Amino acid sequence: MRLPSSLLVFASLLAAPWPASAALRVVTTTEGLAALAREVGGDRVVVTSLSRGTQDPHFVDANPMLAVKLRDADLLVDVGLELEIGWLPPLVNQSRNAAIQPGGAHRFTAASVIQVLDVPTGVVDRSRGDLHPGGNPHFLYDPRRGLQVARGIAAKLGELDPAGAAGYQSRAAAFTAQLEAAMARWKVQLAPLQGRKIFIHHRTLTYFLDWSGLLSAGEMEPRPGTPPSSPHLADLVALGRKEGIKACVVENYLDSKSDDLVARLIGGTVVRIPGDVGGDATATTYQAWIDEMVRRITAAVK
Ligand SMILES: [Zn+2]
Repeated sequence: MRLPSSLLVFASLLAAPWPASAALRVVTTTEGLAALAREVGGDRVVVTSLSRGTQDPHFVDANPMLAVKLRDADLLVDVGLELEIGWLPPLVNQSRNAAIQPGGAHRFTAASVIQVLDVPTGVVDRSRGDLHPGGNPHFLYDPRRGLQVARGIAAKLGELDPAGAAGYQSRAAAFTAQLEAAMARWKVQLAPLQGRKIFIHHRTLTYFLDWSGLLSAGEMEPRPGTPPSSPHLADLVALGRKEGIKACVVENYLDSKSDDLVARLIGGTVVRIPGDVGGDATATTYQAWIDEMVRRITAAVK
């Protein structure tokens, strides 16, 4: 009996739910990590992100549908440093996938391969708004650290899929060459702005500033995770006027009322940036995301 062609197609889909060449199902917590995994994984991996680039990565809804994605994951890539502590652990538990638990063979925590900034030295108390007791988790804003994470993912993929290891390494090398060329261009764009100060909202730009040579004059949040208060904003306005600060940089997923107010009172501008790959229509790849941040911030600070 001959089957109708549509049924044959359906039967073949059932037999091979993944592209024939795809060896690994990779789930990441953020779009930035997903973009890096795609760069080094190529067509041997199928990558899904649990959050969107338009979302605040600290506060993702732990929808049970996300646990279903984790159930079949061959690799979970997370940021770490407690960025996802409010939503990832329950999802991992619900997934019943033991290998992706912290420390599991199929888990890669990106923070493990980078040098961490903003590590608190005194008493840390999350209840007082210390959102990042282990240090600042927003390291993908620095392309040097982005490269380290990409190479770390490539190494992990090679461990889990030895037949593809050489391919992951060569893709990582190509990505390195491409991003290093972009970094050389960005360095030229940023050169006139060394030591210039901007206001930021949350401490998301710490690593970007460390790499770019710009400085933070202050944050809208008095402490990471604590909402802006009137006395704190009044201090920022006084400081901004005294130091001639021209830009308040804020991610487009954050409430920018305080940034708008401060910018107006200091005669500066609010620079809205995508908070991750996929954060807006311009941030289509990791390189495009960094490129857009550099472009918008330099335009405002010049
Ligand atoms: Zn944060």
